[in-house]
Amino acid sequence: MDVPALRRRLLAWYGRHRRALPWRGTRDPYRIWVSEVMLQQTQVAAVTPYYRAFLARFPTLASLARARAADVLAAWAGLGYYRRARHLHAAARLVVREHGGRVPDRPETFGRLPGVGHYTAGAVLSIAFDHPLPALDGNVARVLARLEALPVTLRDPRGARALQTLAQALVPTRRPGDWNQALMELGATVCVPRAPRCPECPVRRWCRASALGRPEAFPPATARRAPVRVRRAVALIERRGRLLVVRREGPLLAGLWEPPGVELGDGAPAGAALRAALADLGVRATLAPTGESVRHAITHRRIEAEVWRAADATVPRSARLRWVDPARPGVALTALAKKVARLGATVRR
Ligand code: SF4
Repeated sequence: MDVPALRRRLLAWYGRHRRALPWRGTRDPYRIWVSEVMLQQTQVAAVTPYYRAFLARFPTLASLARARAADVLAAWAGLGYYRRARHLHAAARLVVREHGGRVPDRPETFGRLPGVGHYTAGAVLSIAFDHPLPALDGNVARVLARLEALPVTLRDPRGARALQTLAQALVPTRRPGDWNQALMELGATVCVPRAPRCPECPVRRWCRASALGRPEAFPPATARRAPVRVRRAVALIERRGRLLVVRREGPLLAGLWEPPGVELGDGAPAGAALRAALADLGVRATLAPTGESVRHAITHRRIEAEVWRAADATVPRSARLRWVDPARPGVALTALAKKVARLGATVRR
């Protein structure tokens, strides 16, 4: 492969075809960092309004470091994968505390910050500081697997190593940030998972998968994790237009707020389980089924939550409980909470 020619070609294409995205054209490492964290597991179109709003709220790393965790989560609400926000917030505080508020430009220092893996380090340091590091995300891995017709994916460790080696060999010392973004852009707009647009691809002449006539065979498909069905019961407890929510604890969505609820075993009676869960929070109420349920998915979990209305509720003062206006909650609600609130408005009518 004529690597210098391939680089020239792809960079020239990027110069002509790159989309005007709000995080492009800046060398501010904080802004690039925010965009890269948001773009993990979330599409560009969904990220754009959140990125603008987040930076309007926290325009500098120092302002993010000063913010309360609840405010950071509230600004993130709707983007999902909240661990990203918690890590970003913790990392900003660490940068202020240990690095004088300046984003470290050395890979070994930046790479040790919470939530910063190989991808984020490569993307931020190459774009902001011209470090010749690859940024290997799903889009880039697909392009590279096709270029070399490698039957591997990022999911298996040997495949990941092979792709990382190839990515490192290709990244140039001049304009490494543009190079990484060009590969990402090609993967997002031309070398797409299904029906890649090879005839308009700038690097087609070097692409082995295209020469073999079956670009879609690379990377090989991987088995999806089977969905798990989860039954829940949740309590709709309202007072003067406000909804009672509880702060979640545990591995999933910790720190977010939603109506009190409980996971149900197979065939478990929902009313008794929900009453017990409310009692654990010190809440007493008369429960009645609404006959409605809301559906929701988190990663591979498919949740169906039966909604019970609670009347005559006695609610103690507790840091874990809060009455919120669902339209302006002031805390980060889970998507399930929003669905329950909407349902509450419907069943009231
Ligand atoms: Fe992808 Fe086709 Fe370009 Fe190869 S030629 S990199 S398969 S779009």
